[in-house]
Amino acid sequence: MYDCDDCINRLDQLVDKELSGPEVEEIHVHLDACGDCTRRYEFQEGLKRLVKVSCSEERAPAMLRERLRQQLNS
Ligand SMILES: [Zn+2]
Repeated sequence: MYDCDDCINRLDQLVDKELSGPEVEEIHVHLDACGDCTRRYEFQEGLKRLVKVSCSEERAPAMLRERLRQQLNS
């Protein structure tokens, strides 16, 4: 089980989709149980989205993005 420190340390990578499947699962287990980290995660996500929208066109191929999204939702 990840604790808050583990979770916080990996939030950047989570938002950047740089973590392996099992790590993503571990973090989501923690996020489900921890409101503080959920808020941190949502903040990071929102920030990332803003940066992406303002700095670049969408670079990831549509298929890759779709696959990542399904992984996250499963
Ligand atoms: Zn936490």
